[in-house]
Amino acid sequence: MWWKPCGNLWGNRLADSRGSESSLAGALPEPLFAQITLIGLGLIGSSLARVIAMRKLAARLVLCDASDAVLGRLRALKLGDEVTADAGAAVRSADLVILCVPVGASAAVMTQIAPYLSTGSILSDVGSVKGAVVAALAPLLPEGVHLVPAHPVAGTEYSGPDAGFATLFHNRWCIVTPPDGAAPEAVEKVCAFWRAAGSNVETMTPSHHDLVLAITSHVPHLIAYNIVGTAADMEEVTASEVIKFSAGGFRDFTRIAASDPTMWRDVFLYNKDAVLEMLGRFNEDLAALQRMIRWGDGDGLFDLFTRTRAIRRSIIEQGQETQAADFGRQDHGQMKPEA
Ligand code: NAP
Repeated sequence: MWWKPCGNLWGNRLADSRGSESSLAGALPEPLFAQITLIGLGLIGSSLARVIAMRKLAARLVLCDASDAVLGRLRALKLGDEVTADAGAAVRSADLVILCVPVGASAAVMTQIAPYLSTGSILSDVGSVKGAVVAALAPLLPEGVHLVPAHPVAGTEYSGPDAGFATLFHNRWCIVTPPDGAAPEAVEKVCAFWRAAGSNVETMTPSHHDLVLAITSHVPHLIAYNIVGTAADMEEVTASEVIKFSAGGFRDFTRIAASDPTMWRDVFLYNKDAVLEMLGRFNEDLAALQRMIRWGDGDGLFDLFTRTRAIRRSIIEQGQETQAADFGRQDHGQMKPEA
């Protein structure tokens, strides 16, 4: 089997439905880590900072970012016990370090911090691509440091420390992708951390993760970027008409296509093979649809749309979406697209 649910060492599974902060509010009886250091405090990093503080997942929380503006916002928001631009100093006493930077910045950050990581500590990340990250980080890993990458399948189209919120990961999946030979205790600690942050956790190989996410997240984003780009380039339809008459379907695409350009550039550069493989299949299926329309194959179209409707129902039944006609988007931004 290429995936397995992570065991539950701390027995701390949270409520099934995503909800208010109160459903996550209880602090743990004991922190899971003495010091957690987060590097890169945008949407994901600052959401982690909030849930770590709320649930007391670490005795001490150190936040590090390269941007002065971000550091200023973190201080104003009173996030973290220490806020610093010095990545080496930030990781020195940490037993868990999580890289929350764009995928393309991971190797550069690792080069900066590697000499300062403590023996026995765990290095993790939240990148939307896993194979390339493991390949870049593993050779730089000092002896005695455990690499346990992860990907919370939760997000919004917003960026930066003000966009984060503590319930972002609640009842969303987090995929943990340990490389071959990873220490089981380190893997279990990372799984326990994500469960305590509210996520449901599964483990998978990095390459399988990249294939699954290519079809469930990366290709859909590419389609959204493409369709909004096509509409913007149409000469016969004015920009104001596109905005004025944007129907629900197009509005959904514009929301996805508003996602962070740096992050998504990196996703396509670093998950190239899986995305190209899925795009090949997508193009074949699109050609089949084109044929059905050309030949008036109403039964074929009806059958396909019936199957796709069933998939939507399963997603709702599994609590990953709501029935609401607005797709639950008024709900604190929690139903936004994820990477
Ligand atoms: P974000 O809001 O843009 O935050 C990234 C932060 O990292 C920014 O504050 C950025 O500073 C900082 N940074 C960039 N390079 C750095 C460096 N070398 N050293 C220290 N800090 C650095 O991005 P995000 O949405 O949180 O995404 C972060 C990671 O999470 C990405 O790997 C992404 O693939 C993954 N992820 C994202 C989502 C999502 O939906 N957004 C979901 C799951 C996973 P500047 O702004 O100054 O560059």
